Amino acid sequence: MSKEGQKSDLPVCSLCTEPAVIYQRHVDRHLCGTHFTADVELRVADIIKTQQMIVPRDRVAVALSGGKDSTALLLILNRLLQKWQNFQLIALTIDEGIAGYREETIQSAEQLTGQFGIEHHCISFSDLFGDTLDAFLKFRETQACSICGILRKKALVRGANQAGATKLATGHNLDDEAQSVLMNVFRGDLPRLVRNSGADSSGRFIPRIKPLSLISEKEIATYLVLKDAWRHLPDCPYTRYALRREVRSMLSGFEYRHPGTMLHLMESKKKIEHFYAGSVISEPIKSCRECGDPSSGELCQLCMLMQSLRRGHT
Ligand code: SF4
Ligand code: ZN
Repeated sequence: MSKEGQKSDLPVCSLCTEPAVIYQRHVDRHLCGTHFTADVELRVADIIKTQQMIVPRDRVAVALSGGKDSTALLLILNRLLQKWQNFQLIALTIDEGIAGYREETIQSAEQLTGQFGIEHHCISFSDLFGDTLDAFLKFRETQACSICGILRKKALVRGANQAGATKLATGHNLDDEAQSVLMNVFRGDLPRLVRNSGADSSGRFIPRIKPLSLISEKEIATYLVLKDAWRHLPDCPYTRYALRREVRSMLSGFEYRHPGTMLHLMESKKKIEHFYAGSVISEPIKSCRECGDPSSGELCQLCMLMQSLRRGHT
């Protein structure tokens, strides 16, 4: 076969004659770098508009860990900002205090915000809660992600409020969201499955938005490579304890064998939300009796956690 013949065997973009960089299995389509980046940005812009995630004059704080998802989110929102020019963009990094891991990702976050001149706020568990995550997890490593999740959620809300943000944007992607749907089903936690933190009407929570929730992990990685923003960063040492890890590998297998599985899970979640609208998420919002933050019970999750950490068990 001639060289030209070999070249023509390579997949070509379904929308032009350029070589393809990705195959979108669920829609059976190859895309070149230009069409793929445009497609991702368009889909993110679309979900922001249809779900009214960002409205004019919003001050959007991106929860920027410095990892892949939040880096892609910042890059895409920065592109949209240039087009729309009707919101402000800032970045918020939480330093949990995880030795050998966080230092590099924080450095990456600082580089990125410096490069684009984006206001950057950094806040640490030590400042907020008096110690590092590593210290809190001594002899409790197996509960790492649930403890970290409660502390990080509170840190993000406090940081976003301190920075005067009106929205908190997180980099959760399609894989994360589909995994969460399954994990909530496995735990039998229907209220959490249908709870939508972005839809609070009480005005007591800063609305959280997830603009990448329909973009897959693979698409995010490809986007970063194309934007020359891919960095090899270490994994959190506590990931080995996460239930999510098992669900992730199971779901990736399903997605590979049955393209579109993750999107179908998201559609199922939407239908369940619609079905249960108003009946499951009707608990009145109280104030935590320790810290005064909004809470569904007498004590907020953080104060409950702090009490049990002080008592020496969780
Ligand atoms: Fe926290 Fe778990 Fe994520 Fe590590 S893997 S940063 S412990 S939630
Ligand atoms: Zn509290």
